[in-house]
Amino acid sequence: MINGLRLCGEEQAFSAMEAESGNALPPLFHEASPAQIDQACQCAAQAFNAYAQRDLPLRARFLRQIGDNILAIGDALIDRAMQETALPRGRIEGERARTIGQLNMFADVVERGEFLAPIIETALPERKPLPRPDLRQRQVALGPVAVFGASNFPLAFSVAGGDSASALAAGCPVVVKAHPAHPGTSEMVGQAIVDAVKQCQLPPGVFALLHGTSHHSGQALVSHPAIQAVGFTGSRNAGLALVRCAQQRQRPIPVYAEMSSINPLLLFPTALAQRSASIAQGYVDSLVLGTGQFCTNPGIALALDSPALENFCQLTAEALAQRPASTMLTPAIQRACQQNSEALAALSGVRLLGAGQPAATPHQTQAQVYLTDADTFLAQPAMQNEIFGPVSLLVRCQDEAVLQSVIETIEGQLTFTLQLNEPDYPLARTLLPHIEARTGRIIINGYPTGVDVGYAMVHGGPFPATSDARSTSVGATAIQRFLRPVCYQDFPTALLPYPLASHS
Ligand code: NAP
Repeated sequence: MINGLRLCGEEQAFSAMEAESGNALPPLFHEASPAQIDQACQCAAQAFNAYAQRDLPLRARFLRQIGDNILAIGDALIDRAMQETALPRGRIEGERARTIGQLNMFADVVERGEFLAPIIETALPERKPLPRPDLRQRQVALGPVAVFGASNFPLAFSVAGGDSASALAAGCPVVVKAHPAHPGTSEMVGQAIVDAVKQCQLPPGVFALLHGTSHHSGQALVSHPAIQAVGFTGSRNAGLALVRCAQQRQRPIPVYAEMSSINPLLLFPTALAQRSASIAQGYVDSLVLGTGQFCTNPGIALALDSPALENFCQLTAEALAQRPASTMLTPAIQRACQQNSEALAALSGVRLLGAGQPAATPHQTQAQVYLTDADTFLAQPAMQNEIFGPVSLLVRCQDEAVLQSVIETIEGQLTFTLQLNEPDYPLARTLLPHIEARTGRIIINGYPTGVDVGYAMVHGGPFPATSDARSTSVGATAIQRFLRPVCYQDFPTALLPYPLASHS
């Protein structure tokens, strides 16, 4: 689908795969040709001014209309997404609600207009030694944005997901590269957006959907001169490849890549002594949720050595043993999870603490928690590479100084979670500056999975969690990624853009 036309791509055909069985699903999809990628980007560039200059109520109506159209697809969308991802109905329905909720939230953001962030400094002609001119700043849209659909959120971080919604809210046309794991779901949602473009009488280039199964198409999209920014969720390798691509352009552009995070869970001594059972249950629940295929999955837990930790280990193993294996999003993701957990298990100083029920089909994965000590962890930096799936590593630290050393070696994260009780506050106070330096969100007595989409949420963090720690990809402030400031100096009121003329 390109600019609302149901064009077939011009390159090779491919099928979606039913995640449970691995069987091909009709219909055939076609990879976009270089000429079609160029066409989509050129049309986005042509649509940019017309779209960005339209009034904000229309932009808000467009976002709400997309949500209405997605809901109107009904069960066909839910069924297709379930087939393509093996995610259960409840999860996909919840994701649809989140997707529509995000679109409506960005419609509210657009209507409120605060994202334009006006700053007005009126002229001071008498100022000495130099007069001050009239200076007025607001945010404007960057231009066409390339969005990469994420495999693990077929709705909420895919074609009409958070990246697209925030870019469209900012006034940027969007060219989406569908994730090859769910092309059918992507087409349905793409059609909902195309219909909304028509219903709101917007230029067709405001939205385009491209399919691609080779790195070439994604790189061609990011390299296209019309594209002004990129939104991406996926692996560290792919995110970095796209960052390199964007930097090698004649005019480099920002890439907002959300890539890799192991979301440390810090288990403080009093909390473990008093709440071992509920923390073990919560840890395992969070670990296996969505077969561990969340960017906020708790891939590592840190705790001080103590009898309470022994008890916690046993309870964790017991809780884990009852968890069934489940199917992963794609065979490639399942293979990567298996290979990475085998590599972790093979390291000296690492042992299996507990496992869920074994896989019953080739595409399923068994949940696993491994145990190691701080010295082993500190000696092998690769131990903190993300294992995408229901696999976690518990690191036991002999004292508070060692726990702090471990925290200081941890790479940038989306989240850090602290399980603590009041007697743990002094230790928490010591550790918090080190934690804050390496994460975008700090959670007390909760679990990292489950990201509320609101105005204060931050889903970002220092590298490798993201490629730009100053931004969030979830929540209302995600819009700021696709804006830039412009200052209007000594403008006559008649030429001042909205909302700068309203103040004198
Ligand atoms: P991925 O391999 O990063 O792919 C994401 C998107 O980027 C796809 O559209 C892919 O399409 C494209 N792509 C990949 N490599 C590229 C390159 N070198 N140049 C240009 N485009 C490229 O992610 P995935 O397929 O979803 O899953 C693979 C792994 O990613 C997982 O095992 C997991 O480790 C990680 N992952 C992490 C998160 C997270 O939230 N942290 C989420 C999802 C996945 P093509 O293959 O067609 O190029």
